[in-house]
Amino acid sequence: MPKKILVTGGSGFIGSNLVRELLKDKNNEIICIDNNYTGSIDNIKELLDNKRFKFIEHDIINPLNIDDKIDEIYNLACPASPPFYQGKMAINTTKTCVYGAINMLELARKNNAKILQTSTSEVYGEPLVHPQIETYRGNVNPTGIRACYDEGKRCAESLFFDYNRIYNVKIKVVRIFNTYGPFMNPNDGRVVSNFICQALRGENLTVYGDGTQTRSFCYVDDLIEVIIKMMSSNDDFIGPVNIGNPNEFTIKELSELVVNKINKNLKIIYKPLPLDDPTQRRPDIGLAKEKLNWEPKIQLREGLDKTIDYFANIIKRYKK
Ligand code: UDP
Repeated sequence: MPKKILVTGGSGFIGSNLVRELLKDKNNEIICIDNNYTGSIDNIKELLDNKRFKFIEHDIINPLNIDDKIDEIYNLACPASPPFYQGKMAINTTKTCVYGAINMLELARKNNAKILQTSTSEVYGEPLVHPQIETYRGNVNPTGIRACYDEGKRCAESLFFDYNRIYNVKIKVVRIFNTYGPFMNPNDGRVVSNFICQALRGENLTVYGDGTQTRSFCYVDDLIEVIIKMMSSNDDFIGPVNIGNPNEFTIKELSELVVNKINKNLKIIYKPLPLDDPTQRRPDIGLAKEKLNWEPKIQLREGLDKTIDYFANIIKRYKK
């Protein structure tokens, strides 16, 4: 029997990598949902002819009626880059997290489908525990400019657990830490895409603050592997589980790595640190190792090379 899998956010960065990987299994039929606000058809265009792939333009803020019987839902839809989810998109971001979770959980309930929520390291806010472990409850500013995303994602986790407790919906919750790789949007303002694109264009690299804040960067292929593993794990393991790469770098170190790889003549310039920008972030992935027998394999230097190749091609295409 073919398996029908619905992926929301399927034309976004992680979503488009996920649908590509899922399609490798000939048993899988994919329904990809996106409103293309931050995702793009360009990310999935060669999949549109595949008979096992269907794209539906839809905003998950609104309920989704679908005739197919769905077996699994991966809920990824949400703007995830700070410059995108802040400002004008803020209210929409919370609605996507909360109404989107309710609409997808209702769909899962109706179909008796398993549903996986992509939550985030942002649920930990400005963490006072380092590295972050799943039992840490976080330190989020509920009125700050990141709250639309952080609190939206926290509320979505709460909805998932309530649907599980009240309606027995089969849920899975993963908390994704910083991830990078091919199909990132070159204009979405994240640090890895910004630095690489700036360097490839011969521009100075913009470090926000003094660059001592840390992040731990996971290459997207490693992340996709564990997301799929989580979906097929035992029903009694529901998470939340941290997924990411525990190797921690300062943002200044990252900028130096990119400059050294692309063009040593470029300068690093310093800009103001955005409000509520977390000082440190690193996942404790002990739970993922134990329950899912997973750890990332691709380290930053290698992953950066693959990502630089991807962006170099994109930038060349735009120039033509
Ligand atoms: N950052 C930076 N320069 C940029 C973009 C981001 O120094 O051009 C910093 C940002 O302030 C944060 C870190 O890099 O401290 C990671 O930012 P990103 O937006 O990629 O993800 P976040 O982890 O903050 O959600």
